[in-house]
Amino acid sequence: MQLDKDSLDIVKNVQKPSLFRITSIKEDVLSIEPIDENTDIYGNILIYSDTKEYVFDFAFANKDRIDYLFFLNANDYAIETIAKPKRKNHTIESFFKEIHDRIDDFEYRQEQVELAKKIYHSFKQKRIGVFEAPTGTGKSFAYLVPSILYSLENSKRIAISTSTINLQKQLIEKDIPLLKTIVDFNVKLAVGRGNYLCKRRLDSILEKGDIFLFENDLHLKLKEFAKFSNTGLKSELFDKDSAIIDENIWENINSSSITCARSKCKYYKNKCFYYKAQKLLESANIIVANHHIVLSDALLSEASILPDYDIIVFDEAHNLEKNATNYFTQTVSTAELKHILDKLYSKKRKKQSGLLSLSKDMSKIGSALHSIESAKEILKKESEIFEKEKSEISIDSSNIEKYKIHIENIIKAVDNAAASIKNIKEYFEENDFVDISSYIQRLVENCDILIDFIENKNQESIRWLKPSNSYVHFNITPINVADYLQEKIYEKAESTIFTSATISVNNSFDFFKKNIGINESETFIAKNNFNYKKLSKLLILKDAPPPNAYNYTDYLRFSILNIKDIIYKENLGALILFTSYKMLNETYNKVYNTLEKVGLSVLKQGDFDNFKLLGEFKKNRGFLFATSSFWEGVDIKGDALSLVFITRLPFDVPSTPIEKSRYKIMESQGINSFFEYSLPKAVLKFRQGFGRLIRSSKDKGIIIVSDSRIASKSYGKIFTNSLPDITKEMVVKNEIKDSVCSFFGCC
Ligand code: SF4
Repeated sequence: MQLDKDSLDIVKNVQKPSLFRITSIKEDVLSIEPIDENTDIYGNILIYSDTKEYVFDFAFANKDRIDYLFFLNANDYAIETIAKPKRKNHTIESFFKEIHDRIDDFEYRQEQVELAKKIYHSFKQKRIGVFEAPTGTGKSFAYLVPSILYSLENSKRIAISTSTINLQKQLIEKDIPLLKTIVDFNVKLAVGRGNYLCKRRLDSILEKGDIFLFENDLHLKLKEFAKFSNTGLKSELFDKDSAIIDENIWENINSSSITCARSKCKYYKNKCFYYKAQKLLESANIIVANHHIVLSDALLSEASILPDYDIIVFDEAHNLEKNATNYFTQTVSTAELKHILDKLYSKKRKKQSGLLSLSKDMSKIGSALHSIESAKEILKKESEIFEKEKSEISIDSSNIEKYKIHIENIIKAVDNAAASIKNIKEYFEENDFVDISSYIQRLVENCDILIDFIENKNQESIRWLKPSNSYVHFNITPINVADYLQEKIYEKAESTIFTSATISVNNSFDFFKKNIGINESETFIAKNNFNYKKLSKLLILKDAPPPNAYNYTDYLRFSILNIKDIIYKENLGALILFTSYKMLNETYNKVYNTLEKVGLSVLKQGDFDNFKLLGEFKKNRGFLFATSSFWEGVDIKGDALSLVFITRLPFDVPSTPIEKSRYKIMESQGINSFFEYSLPKAVLKFRQGFGRLIRSSKDKGIIIVSDSRIASKSYGKIFTNSLPDITKEMVVKNEIKDSVCSFFGCC
């Protein structure tokens, strides 16, 4: 057994004794990384020492935290394996049994263990896995347990990525601390770079005495924070101090790849918050991240906080395509360009501000200042041209000429400003010019995107523009993100796992796999843990008029008012889901007065922010009328949500340029966009809406679908077949009340 060359070089440059973590063992060759005093001890460890006594003492003190222990002789670099200290060896089953023994209300679920084994198997086989786990499976433990075991057994780093903050919080605050009571492992949360304070930028601003920092003694608070904080995280600053730091201030002092001076910065080596956090992440078995961080790492790894990982698990994987489409969209807005130019130089009522006002000799930089002011004027003038456009516009060869000259004017003005600033470097301190250069780089990058926008070099993308107040956004969106994801993520990881409660359509993963670019994979759909036949019923209103009929909302009014007494008498909560605000408002206006007179709480999306709205609904029950985001992510257990009313099958109307273009492209390729895209998308959303109802084995409730296409159209079966085994009943409007009543046993 020996060290690889790089590891040997590291060892030769350290003091004895030193500790190292084994990062890989391949054919008797070890790779190592140093462990400093801040790093947790766990896994396979190598000790470089003059004496074995130290090694034995260490083994004794850490016996529950380490696996293999190696001793590296300081004289001849020979490696000796010291017997493995006793650490309990778990299998997937024994791990779950121990959770069950230790936690009072933890149910041992066969499906959960089965899923965990499948995930572990995919890790071992180095394969991609696509796994659906319905609500109640205990999905997070089903991937955390195999991830922890596999990481510890094989010294692998595993990233777990979520789409929502709520799930990330659940993992970090609830699930992982619980699992840590059974097996010790190292877990770290990855936070985006912009959340860390940059000490160099703060020093520079404090030195200049920027006036904004002196309001409310913010400069003193920041100085103290930079000195005493362990993390340098913005969130910690907020916790410690109730004063909210303005985003405009934070962006002048946070860490970013373009303002970082790296080895030229005195903090770089071991005092920079960001680089310290990055180092700590390298020591983790499990890194909890989110799709945004993973995608940014894929796009621009040098700007990312994530170290290389061996395996990645995407939870809430149904959102990955949407997240990736947003993330891989390149956007330039005239508002952002103006903002950057303001940061460089601004003059209001003879008062000068911005980085260029730090010049050693303002008299020498007049032409650069003039080019910035003139670029801003041109931005304003050219943005006005787009103001009259009312909505998002697709750009193609038929209309680019109309806008080309205006975009070229913007490029010319911004480019000219950037070029003139580059020429005045000598009139600034080196430290100040690091920040100025970062803004120049952003201007140049924006101009490059605008050039691509005009020239349409990438045929595989959609160009579109969006007017917004007095500004305009230019966007380039890839038509499909599958290739990007494949090349940047799956090909790099040994194994990639996708999991969600809703990713299959009609028991097939084809739609999901095609959209995110997977060919071969292991798949598994965990059985439902809930007895839906007993807990719920699906009521289909077969005499409902088509959703686009003039009298459709009258039909909804009748149906809703028909069940109002049951909701009131039984003190239940009913979520009425729409696909458009128009239909929501029309229906709401038709029923509001009557429902209120009964004494029911009647809420609609937009009354409060979503968090407060759900809180009010849980407290007061009654009716909640909602659309868009409420089809997923609402997690209300018990009677507070006992009825979900789906007013319309959730087919997307292709109204955005991205959707329109995707449909057009599919049709031009002879693909039936309805069956291949629109229908599976609607089925997934329908399943998500359905999934709001039963959140625990103690829940009970009814789903009403008033879109009769589910019964009359041949594709309707795809919707119903995608649901769990549930009692279905077809009724006409006069039968609704009796049917709902008999389910809740109130008549
Ligand atoms: S190393 Fe970079 S991010 Fe860290 S303090 Fe220095 S400039 Fe800021």
